[in-house]
Amino acid sequence: MDLQSLIRDIPDFPKPGIMFRDITTLLRDPAGLRYTIDTLAEKTESLGAECIVGMESRGFIVGAPLAYKLDVGFIPVRKPGKLPGEVHSIEYELEYGMDCLEVHQDALKPGTRVLIVDDLIATGGTAGATAKLVQQIGCQLVGFGFIIELRDLQGRDRLPDVPIVTLVEY
Ligand code: 5GP
Repeated sequence: MDLQSLIRDIPDFPKPGIMFRDITTLLRDPAGLRYTIDTLAEKTESLGAECIVGMESRGFIVGAPLAYKLDVGFIPVRKPGKLPGEVHSIEYELEYGMDCLEVHQDALKPGTRVLIVDDLIATGGTAGATAKLVQQIGCQLVGFGFIIELRDLQGRDRLPDVPIVTLVEY
């Protein structure tokens, strides 16, 4: 299936000069959504993940159905102040300034085999910070899954050396 034809390009969002790859048009297409999740599941199944970690907020949309399909649990990584329980946090650099991601302390145990999932990898900052967070807890990172990879930004170079599954490249 030609997933790229279901992804909408929106120029100058959220800032002038940025070409935003909008997945809402893919998500609302029943066959496209099914193919996306089924293909990510096929390509990541052999990694033997025991749970999926997905980042707020589009990582939730991809990660939860993938976890269902792989018959494992889903663990949300959220922006600061959103999770009600005790959290582990990680700060990471943005283009301008810093950001922070959090996960519940009791959600992940050392040694757990984790697959990190998001809709898109650009610079790799978000996925790289999430990888550090799960590795600091002592989890075993088994791979990453993304619908879209923006190759020019070389985000994969910022990630640990584990398999990276992507479905569409720009
Ligand atoms: P990175 O941290 O790799 O630079 O950026 C990836 C994060 O920003 C992901 O969480 C992703 O959802 C979001 N993001 C950045 N650019 C785009 C885009 O063009 N389309 C979509 N759907 N998400 C984007």
